[in-house]
Formats: sequence, structure tokens, C-alpha cells
Amino acid sequence: ETANIGVVGLAVMGSNLARNLASREGNTVAVYNRTHARTEELVAAHPEAGFVAAGTIDDFVASLARPRTAIIMVKAGAGTDAVIDQLAERFEPGDIIVDGGNANFQDTIAREKRIAPTGVHFVGVGISGGEEGALNGPSIMPGGSAESYETLGPILASIAAVAKGEPCVTHVGTDGAGHFIKMIHNGIEYADMQLIGEAYDLLRTVGGLEPHAIADVFAEWNKGSLESYLIEITAEILRQVDSATGKPFVDIVLDQAGSKGTGVWTVQNALDLGVPVGGIAEAVFARAVSAKPAQRAAVRRSAASRPQPQKADAGFADDVAKALYASKVVAYAQGFDAVLAGAEKYGWDIHKDRIAKIWRGGCIIRARFLDRIAEAYTDNPDITTLLEAPYFAQAVTQGEDAWRRIVATAALSGVPVPGFSSALSYYDSLAAERLPAALVQGQRDFFGAHTYRRTDREGTFHTLWSGDRTEVDVTHSTH
Ligand code: NDP
Repeated sequence: ETANIGVVGLAVMGSNLARNLASREGNTVAVYNRTHARTEELVAAHPEAGFVAAGTIDDFVASLARPRTAIIMVKAGAGTDAVIDQLAERFEPGDIIVDGGNANFQDTIAREKRIAPTGVHFVGVGISGGEEGALNGPSIMPGGSAESYETLGPILASIAAVAKGEPCVTHVGTDGAGHFIKMIHNGIEYADMQLIGEAYDLLRTVGGLEPHAIADVFAEWNKGSLESYLIEITAEILRQVDSATGKPFVDIVLDQAGSKGTGVWTVQNALDLGVPVGGIAEAVFARAVSAKPAQRAAVRRSAASRPQPQKADAGFADDVAKALYASKVVAYAQGFDAVLAGAEKYGWDIHKDRIAKIWRGGCIIRARFLDRIAEAYTDNPDITTLLEAPYFAQAVTQGEDAWRRIVATAALSGVPVPGFSSALSYYDSLAAERLPAALVQGQRDFFGAHTYRRTDREGTFHTLWSGDRTEVDVTHSTH
């Protein structure tokens, strides 16, 4: 009973996380993997870590000091359930089982319910940052009970990324909150990547720049308010040259993007919650469109018959930067709306400023931008949308003309910008005096008697469309 923390599952993520844990003062790390050879390999490769290697799950459990705390990093789904059951059978009340994999938060909620009667804490933890983050400091989003966080919090804080002197970890809420927040993080990541992709396409197709020149533009942007990990790696990718052909790397990659599901989960849940996350949805759909080669081949047009790209003037790249920034604000605003809706539905006490803070380091969407979001929610946690925060309201207003020019230019040039244009439409919808929703509601009342409310007085009304077309007050009738 010498280890204060254990890791089960020693593939890429688990072994890196175990090494990170072992490198921090005060931690002794027990390690176990179903296939023992993996455990032996890890221990042999890293004698400096002082791992306590377990050959069986019983040895593993016996090597943990109380309250026993074990982080599971195995294949999401059935593998995770198998390990949870093995640990739950052996653990005692007060012990803590952590699932650090990419679980669906609904599964996490169900697992916690299943484990709770035994007195063992089950904690779903979202961990972002991939392999590199796991080793050097990820962004960590733990759910589960507040009680378990007393033991787990300091351990996680010891390995988390650090941003502005603060570890990128906070107890985000109970049960599945951690995996929910991780899911939203990934959804925002999809949107951010798509927007950057559209900016690149515009700079190339309309701006006429070659990849290496676009890399310079991105590198320049990375010195300002757009500074972020994704912008930084984009510059590096665009600078890469394929050694086999001498062509830009981006030109030899098949233009079909895959997805592993978390972006899809974000959109599915947002639909259920009634939260418009168009930026994230468009990003998921853009990948799906890219992966339809037969349809693309059927509709593809020759260069001669496609719209001619508009002429780019000297300020074009600056316009693209402004459009990108404004669209990003919208995507994050939508993501935080989903956070809020999830918190309300599932009863989580979520602090949006803390979420923004823990995304500032270690994870894929880390960005200077998140400082501004954290500030906005610290200044006023009750803003109805990020677009209302003075800083963002001003940023969007300042970039508005450029944003409109870019969406118009893209449309005239035949460059697809589902992210930029849906973000602008979302903004225009919120900003409009009146929306055609009035007409839609009228249509709903016409064919389905779905009723409507009036602008000038309280109540619920229906027009007798198939009768004499007079209005009836149905406020008190039961539907
Ligand atoms: P994998 O998802 O490839 O899973 C392999 C590990 O799972 C091995 O240790 C394997 O053991 C174990 N395993 C699978 N089935 C079982 C089972 N039935 N019983 C016991 N052990 C089992 O590993 P990764 O390291 O890539 O990912 C681990 C987790 O982290 C996953 O949930 C993944 O989704 C998540 N992840 C998170 C990332 C992030 O950035 N946060 C990035 C990548 C992954 P064995 O060696 O015996 O086969």
C-alpha cells in the first residue's frame, strides 16, 4: 500500500499520464495493464519514474494507499466497463475510480449511478491535449462528487497544464459534468478548425497566396488577438513540404476529413437541449461533405465554368482575420450556451469563467482569446451570451464590415464558407429587430393549429384558417 495513485491501461494516453504523475513531487504511481508485457515495457523504459508495477488487478488494488484512487485510461466503451467492474468489486467505500477516457457523459452519469450504492466514488474526467498533453500537462475537466475532489483535486492539479500561474483543472460539476464539458470543448475545437480552414481557403483561392505565404500570414496572426495553438500549428502545417514530391504538404493530403464522434455528440446533445450551435454543426457537416467523393465528383465543375474569384485588394488578409475573429466569437458563444443548457438540464453548478480558465492551457483550443472569455464571465457571470460582453460586442462591431465583405466575396467567388456565413447569420438573427419566425409561427398555426402569441397583448391565440378566419383566444383552453 505505497502508491497514492494508480493508472490502469498503459497504451499511449495511460503511459504518458502515468509518467506525468510519477514526475511530480509526492506521487507514487501504481501501474497495471491487461496485457502485462505493456506494463513491463513501460517500467523498463522509465526506471526514473519509480513505478509500482502490478501483474494482476489484485496486486494493483493491494498496492494502493487508502483512499484508493485509480485512473482508468482504456478503450472507451466495453473496455472501460470491464475495468470499472474489476475495480468496483475490490474497492471499498471512499475509494475513487476515475475514468479519464473519452466517455460519453451519459454513460458516465449511468456508471456513477451504478457504482454509487457501493460507496465507491466514480468520477468521469475529461482530459484534453492528446499524447503530448498527457505527458507534459493536459487540461483536466473532472466531474464526480465534491468529496472525491478533495483527494483527487490536488493529484490532478499536480499534473495539469499551467496557465497564468493556475493549474488547468477545476471541479466542473457532479457526475457526468466533466465528460460533458470535454465534449463541448471538442465541439468548439471542430468549429475553430473549420473556421481556420475557411480562412486558408480564402487566402489561397481569392488572395492568390501559396501555402508558404499563408503560413507567414498565420504566423503574423499568431502574434495578435488570434494567438492560439491551432493558428500556430496551422502555420507549421502550411510550411511543410512533402519530401517525396516537393509539393506543399497540404496539397498531397486527400481532402476528406474524418471525425471520431465527440463533435457529433456535441451537436446531438445541443439539438436535444434546443441550443443553436450552428458553428459546431456546420463544422461537423463540412467534414461529412468532404467525405462524399461520389457526390463531389458528380457536381464538380471545371475551372472554366466555376465563378471567377473576386479580386483581392490590399486589405484582404486583414478582412479575413477580422471575419475569423468574429466567427470565432460566435462559435465560442454557442459553445458556452451549450455549457449553460447542459448545466441547467443536469443540475450542475458550472462556473463559466473557470471553464474558460482551464481551457487556456494544455488543450487543443488553448488561446489568448480564452483570457478574454474568462474576464467576460468573471466581470458578469449573468450575461445572456458572450456577444453581450463589452469586449466581444466591440470586437464584433469593429470587424463587422470586414466580416460581411468576406462572406459576400466568398459567395461570389464560389468558396464554401459554411462556418463564416452561418456565424454571420447567427449574429444577424440575434441582432435583428424582427425575425421571420413570426411568419413561420403563422404557418404552424395555419396547418397545425399550433397557436401563436401576439406582440400587443398577453395570451395564446389561434386563427380559424379553414373557417371564417377570425381569431380565437385559446389561452385557457387545454391543449
Ligand atoms: P486505446 O483507446 O487504444 O485503448 C487501449 C488500452 O485499452 C490498452 O491498455 C488495452 O489493454 C486497454 N483495454 C481495451 N479493452 C480492455 C478490456 N476489455 N479490459 C482491460 N483493458 C482493456 O488507448 P489510448 O491510450 O489511445 O486511449 C485511452 C483512452 O483515452 C481512450 O478512452 C481514448 O478515447 C482516450 N483518448 C484521449 C485523448 C485525449 O486527448 N484526451 C487522445 C486519445 C485517446 P491491452 O494492452 O491489454 O490491449
